[in-house]
Amino acid sequence: MKNLIEDEIIEVYKQVSSQVPNFCGCAKCRDDAISLALNHVRPRYATGDPPDGAVLSRIELRSETGQAQLISVVMDAVRHVASRPRHTTPPLGTRAVT
Ligand SMILES: [Zn+2]
Repeated sequence: MKNLIEDEIIEVYKQVSSQVPNFCGCAKCRDDAISLALNHVRPRYATGDPPDGAVLSRIELRSETGQAQLISVVMDAVRHVASRPRHTTPPLGTRAVT
């Protein structure tokens, strides 16, 4: 079973994370932001190989509305983590390559 939205969130994260000032971007903050964003969207689970309904869900997620919604959710999550990273010292030089 796969939550289709996870791949989409990660794609959107790659696009928006560099646009948020003061976002650390280390692996820990990235995981925090992605899981936070995942908690705020309705999961789209699919089973099978290829997963049933995967094509339809991807079309839905990649529609203009779907994308705008994802971008805003991921932006909020990244901003939230940027404002309170769960580590005290930003690990310098570990910013993820986007
Ligand atoms: Zn960090």
